[in-house]
Amino acid sequence: MRPVNGVLPLLISARDKGYTKFILPRANAEEAAYIGGTQVFAANNLIEVIDHLSDLAPIAPVAHKTYSPHAAARESVFDMAYVKGQPAAKRAVEIAVAGSHNILLIGPPGTGKTMLARCLPTIMPDMTFEEALEVTKIHSVAGLLHGRGVVSQRPFRTPHHTASTVSICGGGNRFIKPGEISLAHNGVLFLDEMPEYNRSALEALRQPLEDGVITITRVGGAVEYPANFMLCASMNPCPCGNYGSADKPCTCTPAQIHKYRAKISGPLLDRIDIQVEVDSVKYDDLAGDALEESSAEVKKRVEEARYIQRERFAKSDIFTNADMGEREMKKLCPLDKECDDILRMSFAALKLSARARSRIVKVARTIADLAGEEKIKPEHIFEAVSYRKYDKFI
Ligand SMILES: [Zn+2]
Repeated sequence: MRPVNGVLPLLISARDKGYTKFILPRANAEEAAYIGGTQVFAANNLIEVIDHLSDLAPIAPVAHKTYSPHAAARESVFDMAYVKGQPAAKRAVEIAVAGSHNILLIGPPGTGKTMLARCLPTIMPDMTFEEALEVTKIHSVAGLLHGRGVVSQRPFRTPHHTASTVSICGGGNRFIKPGEISLAHNGVLFLDEMPEYNRSALEALRQPLEDGVITITRVGGAVEYPANFMLCASMNPCPCGNYGSADKPCTCTPAQIHKYRAKISGPLLDRIDIQVEVDSVKYDDLAGDALEESSAEVKKRVEEARYIQRERFAKSDIFTNADMGEREMKKLCPLDKECDDILRMSFAALKLSARARSRIVKVARTIADLAGEEKIKPEHIFEAVSYRKYDKFI
């Protein structure tokens, strides 16, 4: 009996319909071990199945396993402690994860944008069993479990910039496969050098970024896959990469820079809450032996901020500040006159869109949560506005 894909969702839905006993190919037994309320028997061949059913040689049921986020998690080779310097970028990354905000890292090549992105899963809260099951189901359907029981680490997906819209969003002819955005569900989708991706693939991200799901329609019908991921993207400030650099001259013409940045459309940029510049690392930071904060320390603060959000949204189906709609924002993020004035001024000066305004308020809410403040204060608004400086260039 050969292993098959998608055992986990099949088993869960069969269990919910009242079935309790299952015979599975041995290679699928591991992923079934985490589902409560079932008895699973693992067989190597049909003779074993017949002997089991005719009571000649009953198979012992697979032992149940309990989920623990650390048990199966491999140690990450990435850690914030290895990122030298970059205090501003690190701060932005922490805020992004704390409120589950999408983030764009802008900087010349070789400044460690990829390294920072790789650290994101190391400061995210551990997945709950429900979250882990959702991720495992998708990976099971895609045939990516490779004998693993349950995916306990938050996914980090990095599709190449030549990837097609189908491979990013999902699709296929005979069987509608989940795309990278669904494989990144409950984790991070990292687009390295975002302007290099094909335009239609980028534009296709807009709907799932808003809804957290993707609906793929084919002749045979429609399939909906979860796609609630955190988007992290990186880009150079210009085609040569040196625009704004203190020591290397930029050789691009203004028209080239404009064309390069225009590859990311306004509506897509509007859905990215935080834009931050990652500068060249200063020599003293590289050579110095100053101890950088570890991912574990940052994660503690993130978890505290997430706790505040869980309390705030306890009576709704929202989990993080980034998920808030206009209605929740009006109710839960009131701004006093001073904050509103700052926002009004920034709005005019940066020519922000209405959507960008909401992003700023949500990010300010997260900054206030990290500070343990009940009310959004002017400094929170100022900092949130500072993460939108690319809007006026694109
Ligand atoms: Zn340049």
